[in-house]
Amino acid sequence: MATLRLQVVPVLQDNYSYILDDGKGAFVVDPPESAPLVSVLRSGGLVVRGILLTHRHGDHVAGVVSLLREADVVDGVVVYGPGEDGEIEGVTARVVGGDSIDVLGVEAGVVAVPGHTRGHIAYDLAAESLLFCGDCLFSLGCGRVFEGTFEHMWQSIVRLRALGDDRRLCCGHEYTLVNGAFALRHDGGNGALRGWVQEAETLRGRGLPTVPVVMGDERLRNPFLRADDVALQRVLGMEGASAVEVFTFLRQARDRW
Ligand SMILES: [Zn+2]
Repeated sequence: MATLRLQVVPVLQDNYSYILDDGKGAFVVDPPESAPLVSVLRSGGLVVRGILLTHRHGDHVAGVVSLLREADVVDGVVVYGPGEDGEIEGVTARVVGGDSIDVLGVEAGVVAVPGHTRGHIAYDLAAESLLFCGDCLFSLGCGRVFEGTFEHMWQSIVRLRALGDDRRLCCGHEYTLVNGAFALRHDGGNGALRGWVQEAETLRGRGLPTVPVVMGDERLRNPFLRADDVALQRVLGMEGASAVEVFTFLRQARDRW
């Protein structure tokens, strides 16, 4: 049963940070700026105990130092960051895939998901069905492969998928509608995909986030999670191709789109 509250905080243009709290203490995930987070923390009377960073890109980490300066909303903060993604200012505990950390009394597993960056990690709170996946996986899409190979990225996505259908994916960006338009071009007959795009349009029309999304739902509608699904391979005219070939085709088409 979930014991922590999750708040989705829109930051910058289309990024999301997240705040987890137990009523007093809080953990912040991927802060690129501090002001929107500080205002949520203050209004909730919350004190930050930890920060989780998924990868080194500025639109996920640039707010760490300024957040730590806000003395009234921080106390004894541990800043967890990827151990294999270069230097990130403010990080005090470098972690890698296989590590396990304590988040307000809940165990969080660190999962290595290279591809977007070489040291990208995700944080898996199994007891809360929460997965902070940064720029590895989005609703109806996945991150660009900047470092590493398409095969690395596909294996990273498979690793996240294997964690379980119950996981609520806390993604780093609001990309659902643009990803949805791309997915519909290739898999327009998919009812689960069409239904979610419609729902997402309604949410966005009201200014609401489309995240988190549930892994079990995404498995039916996100083409990047279905590169090994024969039904999708048939739709793409790629029957008999390997999952990596299908994934590569989709990712390259999305890059050009
Ligand atoms: Zn990124």
